Amino acid sequence: QWIFLGGEFVKKEDAVVSVYDHGFLYGDGVFEGIRVYSGNVFKLEEHLNRLYESAQSIMLHIPYDKEEMERIIVDTVRKNKLDTAYIRVVVSRGPGNLGLDPTFCSQPKVIVIAETLALFPKELYQRGLRLGSVSTRRNRPDVLSPQVKSLNYLNNILVKLEANQAGVDEALMLNDQGYVTEGSADNIFIVKNNTIYTPPVYLGALEGITRNAIIDLAKKHGYTMKETPFTRHDVYVADEVFLTGTAVEVIAVVEVDGRKINGGNPGKVTSHLLTEFRKVVRTDGVA
Ligand code: PLP
Repeated sequence: QWIFLGGEFVKKEDAVVSVYDHGFLYGDGVFEGIRVYSGNVFKLEEHLNRLYESAQSIMLHIPYDKEEMERIIVDTVRKNKLDTAYIRVVVSRGPGNLGLDPTFCSQPKVIVIAETLALFPKELYQRGLRLGSVSTRRNRPDVLSPQVKSLNYLNNILVKLEANQAGVDEALMLNDQGYVTEGSADNIFIVKNNTIYTPPVYLGALEGITRNAIIDLAKKHGYTMKETPFTRHDVYVADEVFLTGTAVEVIAVVEVDGRKINGGNPGKVTSHLLTEFRKVVRTDGVA
């Protein structure tokens, strides 16, 4: 397996970074997770835009322009002869001193890893997920924007730990006002009377690329699609609940805080959107 690391391709065993890298010392950097379907890099432009916006927001200079980065990503997939894959792009602040001031980090480090995708088990899609709301709140947008996909994911990790402790599959994360935002690394949708709702991103959700693709698909297929704030109560009484994300695509939620959703079964709208999404990913991408 070949990893793109700081300007060259190196073998996985040799792909190591300095202990002085501020990505390691402070979680100072940004990342993206991208999927490759049948040799096509799905929504590459959207992922690159988000990566460069995350970097711009934290004043991190990516030493390549978007076109060069696109090349690097596609080359990494090719070099590893992958047809279906998961790509992780990381840009860290690079090595500096032990102080946290990024001024002394002169060489941001770009890493691209492409590997065979560990697919989520089919049973999980058929059974659906159990969700639990957690006490850890989504970080406030005015403090650190949830739109920055930074290497500092402690907030989301705490949420995941809480979900693990509660014995559920995934967490339901609220903002500091109690509105539903998202899962630990996925966006949430609810369906009520054939209308589909997802929280507006200003409440504190990442503007997921899968989320946006599903919003487009829902509209295209004639559903009323609304970006409206909602609370846990609305989730408890929804006809269907599902999550979206690069890794999970679209997955049903069948239980939330012990309340069964749709009698504990994945719903029709969720299945429909998953089917349509899987059609789209085959045709939409950079080869
Ligand atoms: N929310 C968070 C916090 C994430 O990290 C991710 C994963 O990227 C998502 C949502 C889903 O976004 P996307 O569909 O772009 O993968």
